[in-house]
Parts: sequence; structure tokens; C-alpha cells
Amino acid sequence: MARRWDVIVIGAGPGGSTAAYDLAGAGLDVLLLDRARFPRDKPCGGGVLISAAKLLPFSLDPVTEQTIRSFRVRYKRSWEFEHRYDAPLAIMTQRSRLDAFLVEQAAMVGADFRDGSPVRSVADTTVKLANGDVHEAEALIAADGANGVVRRALGLPRLRGAVALEGNATRTGSAAASRWSDAVGLELGSMPGGYGWVFPKGDHCNLGVGGYPAVASSLRAELQRYARSESFDGEALTNLRAHHLPLRDADSALMLDRVLFVGDAAGLVDPLSGEGIGHAIRSGQLAAAAVVAGDLPSYRRAVLDQIEPELAAARQLQALFQQTPWPYTQMLKRSTRFWSAFCRIVRGEATYTSFQSRLGPAKILVDAAAAFSERRESRAAAWQTAR
Ligand SMILES: Cc1cc2nc3c(=O)[nH]c(=O)nc-3n(C[C@H](O)[C@H](O)[C@H](O)COP(=O)(O)OP(=O)(O)OC[C@H]3O[C@@H](n4cnc5c(N)ncnc54)[C@H](O)[C@@H]3O)c2cc1C
Repeated sequence: MARRWDVIVIGAGPGGSTAAYDLAGAGLDVLLLDRARFPRDKPCGGGVLISAAKLLPFSLDPVTEQTIRSFRVRYKRSWEFEHRYDAPLAIMTQRSRLDAFLVEQAAMVGADFRDGSPVRSVADTTVKLANGDVHEAEALIAADGANGVVRRALGLPRLRGAVALEGNATRTGSAAASRWSDAVGLELGSMPGGYGWVFPKGDHCNLGVGGYPAVASSLRAELQRYARSESFDGEALTNLRAHHLPLRDADSALMLDRVLFVGDAAGLVDPLSGEGIGHAIRSGQLAAAAVVAGDLPSYRRAVLDQIEPELAAARQLQALFQQTPWPYTQMLKRSTRFWSAFCRIVRGEATYTSFQSRLGPAKILVDAAAAFSERRESRAAAWQTAR
């Protein structure tokens, strides 16, 4: 006999946990399922922009390992600069701790969290677990990440995406690691379609590289090269993990009948920065609001209204940047206005769309150049797929 709930949330990453938090807080009967035993890790840099942290109704202090006020940017391993800001830009977390904390908040307000519960199949809002248990609900929130089961079960196409590889370097006894305290490092221009990063954590630094799917086979060698160039021991990186970052197209499905897709399951990763925690939280909250209002279609409208314009702007900026990264890196280096616009976006005080609207008539040129770059990018992607 199936157990009935108001809502079932599949996946307890940032998207699922924040949805469950709001739903249970509104007094709904919520089942939150995850296939992994918690605390569980997830391939991720664990960088939470201040814009993302601000979305939460509680502080992330208990799981903050480092507060970032500075970006050290390097271009093609040649020149480098560092800019500071007078307020925090991001916090560094470890996903095992961050996700366990978020799930704990949801459970505290009443969500029934069951880890070690892989979902095997989904039909409409009926969910069957690997142990044979069956659960039904009025609505289902699919927050099961980049390789989730729900999209496949409901016959939706796989989302396109970028790829990334990350690993950890110890801080103890490492002269390189002591260089990183409240700064993150970004390596621009070296990885087609992406970048490299150094994220400092409590006892280690997280290093990664990411880019277009075509670079997948070279990620390992690239990460080692990048680590060495930052004076880490490239061969000694531990916990190496690759994963794909799902990117939605403007018309990718966000819901199907009573099933709402959030976070990576909806492909809401920012195509410019690769940041996905912020939109996972935001979409989880929007999905919860739609369920509480008893108006599921309002979820799609809200995402198209509040998130998709930002993704569209990020797609445009990504196409422009990847075409010719040098002038944009120069602007970031030399223009105080550009740097402070970047910081304001990262802090959630401005958006990509507000940045674009300030370009005035120059926006017409930017649109044309971006359209040209986007066409070149999609032709290159089609060529790669055909090979
Ligand atoms: C290498 C790498 C580095 C990244 N670095 C950053 C970063 O620094 N900052 C940032 O903002 N973003 C980063 N991202 C993106 C970020 O990790 C994701 O966008 C974010 O985790 C999405 O959250 P989510 O809740 O949608 O999904 P997830 O966090 O992926 O959670 C999905 C959950 O669903 C569960 N699940 C899956 N299948 C099932 C099933 N069948 N049954 C039950 N449960 C299931 C999984 O166990 C998992 O817990 C990075 C991504 C990669 C690959």
C-alpha cells in the first residue's frame, strides 16, 4: 500500500533541501528522499556566492570554512592581478557539510528526511524506491541533480552541459597553499568554454578545471598542469572527481504535469560562472511557493520571469567571453567600474540583466557580437557531436 504525502522531494542537495524547508515550514506533509547516506560528498567546488547565501533564511556560518574578499585572476598562465573588495564576495564550504546542514534545517521544521533511499522509478507523482516501498503525493519536486532519474523516467531529453574535474591539495606543509587565505584563484583563457579555480578551505585547497564537453579527455592533464603552475603538487591531488554541469536551453522543460524540476535537474547552472548552488536554492524556493499556493504552473512562470533572463544574459556573456577572453580580462583588471559591477553581481546587489541594460546603445553591438559567437559555438558543438 502506497503511503500518501502532500509533496515528495527527490534529492537532498541545495535545491531539494531548501524546497523541503519551505514546504515543511508552511505546514505541508513532506517526504525528502536521497539515495546517498548523509553526510555525502558531491563533486563541487563548494563556493557559495554571497548572492546565493543571501537567499537563505538562516546563516551559513556553521559550515563556512573561509570567507572570500579577493579574487586573484590569471590570464593564460602569463599575467595575473588581484583585486579586493570591501565586503565578502563568497564563502567556501565543503559540500558534505553544507548539504548535511541544509537537510538538518529542513528536518528541524518537519520534513521527513530519508537518506539511503534510492528512487528506482517514477510514474506521474508515484515514486518507487529500490527497497520496493511506494510513495504517492499531490506534487513531486525533482531535485535529483545532473544525472537524476526523474527526467529519464518521464521521457525528457538529457540536458546539454559542460564538464569539470576537481581535486584537493593539502594545506599542511604546502608553501603554495599558504598563498590562499581569503582569495580565490581563477585561471582564464586556458580552458575552452571554462576556467580553472583554486578555492581555499579549512585544511586544504580545492582545485578544478572545466569547459566544453570536447575537453573532457584532457581535463586530468589540464588539472595537473594547472596545479603545478600554482606550485601545488599536481600528482598528489586527492579525491579527483569529474562531473557534468547541466545547462538548459531557453525552451527546456521546467515541469511536466505535477512534477517540478529544480536546480541541476532543470539545468539551471549559470553557463558563465558554472555556479549552480544559487539557482538551485532559488528554484527550490519558487517550486515550494507554487506548491503552497496550489498553483503549480506558476512555478514555470516564476522561473521564466526571475531566472531564465539571467541565464540568457549569462549565455550571451559566456559566448562573448569565450570568443575573445583577453579584452574582458583586461577590463576586469583595469576598470574599477567593471570590477565593482562584477562584485555587485556576485553579492546579489546587481544582476547580469541590470549590467547589460547599463550598456545603453552599445548593447546593440554586444547583442550582434554575442549572436555571432553563439552561432559559432553551436556550430562547433554540432561538429564535435558529429565526430
Ligand atoms: C566539479 C564541479 C564544481 C562545481 N563548483 C561549484 C561551486 O563552487 N559553486 C556553485 O555554486 N556550484 C558549483 N557547481 C555546481 C553545483 O555543484 C550544482 O549546480 C548544485 O549542486 C546543484 O544542486 P542540486 O540540489 O540541484 O543538485 P545536487 O546537489 O546534485 O543534489 C542532487 C541530489 O539528488 C540525489 N539523487 C540523485 N539521484 C537520486 C535517486 N535516484 N534517488 C534519490 N536521490 C537521488 C543525489 O544523491 C544528490 O544528493 C559545481 C559543479 C561541478 C560538477
